[in-house]
Amino acid sequence: MFLKRISTLFLTVALLVSIGQEFVMADEIVVYSARKEHLIKPLFEAYTKETGEKIIYVTDKAGPLMQRLKAEGKNSRADLLLTVDAGNLWHAANEGLLATIQSPILDKNIPSHLKDPKNRWFGLSLRARTIVYATDRVTPEQLTTYEALGDTKWKGKLLLRTSKKVYNQSLVAMLIAEHGEEKTEAIVKSWVDNLATAPFSNDTKTMKAILAGQGDVGIVNTYYFGRLLKKDPNLKLALFWPNQGGSGVHVNVSGGGVTAHARNPQGATRLLEWLSSPKAQNLFAGANMEYPVNPDVQADATVAAWGSFQENKLNIAKAGELQAAAIRLMDRAGYR
Ligand code: FE
Repeated sequence: MFLKRISTLFLTVALLVSIGQEFVMADEIVVYSARKEHLIKPLFEAYTKETGEKIIYVTDKAGPLMQRLKAEGKNSRADLLLTVDAGNLWHAANEGLLATIQSPILDKNIPSHLKDPKNRWFGLSLRARTIVYATDRVTPEQLTTYEALGDTKWKGKLLLRTSKKVYNQSLVAMLIAEHGEEKTEAIVKSWVDNLATAPFSNDTKTMKAILAGQGDVGIVNTYYFGRLLKKDPNLKLALFWPNQGGSGVHVNVSGGGVTAHARNPQGATRLLEWLSSPKAQNLFAGANMEYPVNPDVQADATVAAWGSFQENKLNIAKAGELQAAAIRLMDRAGYR
């Protein structure tokens, strides 16, 4: 016991001496993360264990983190920004908060529609925003597309989350990219006409309302469905993959980018590259029941059990570019 303590002490002293304060500072990677602590901590610990590079992180919501980066400017200690939704990543890039990164590893690991065409942000996990239905009242044969949720057969049966949530803004932005504003406005209006009740504040409430019989169909992110299913394996809900053979399922990402004023841009780039690698992809995506973006990596068994689907391959940067138009359009259509 005593000997063990002595040796631990020795090791600690030896490390302090050999590394030195300056070396540690230069090697640290500072991450601002809108991705929650329990989802990133195990990954960062694994990275530090593997590379010896220390990661310091701050977690908050996307908005405040971007405001902070902007206010700090050149004095920011952040090297890497991690957040969810292409709309948020696009905004960070548009505000000049992210640096352009040329990396053959990122190019190889991340499909081109899931990253910024100008290489300022990169998708690291994929979530589908898809249709969910009550299995005791709806058959999958009755469902086809997002657009068809506006059919009169769903009158008083559709449940949606609020249009204030960036996920729905991105969904509508991608519909605009595909159909143009006029047609998309008619689609959104037809959804509003079918609403069983006012939109909910989150996806889980939407699904619970379907379970309670308030409505029969809704639109949710896959991992929220996964969380409910984990709590109740006999859940009377199922996912439906719409627009197959057409535009595909609407997908979005959580992702990141190296900050414009990073002090350790190389370290931040290496961390991004590692997060896109096969070994980290399963941990990163699986921790939140999401899909890996790296096509060489299989989804977690729980996630794969929901079935495979063809995804929309339109570059998700469109979700940011058309976000303001989507917000105005939803307002005009009466989607609150
Ligand atoms: Fe979410």
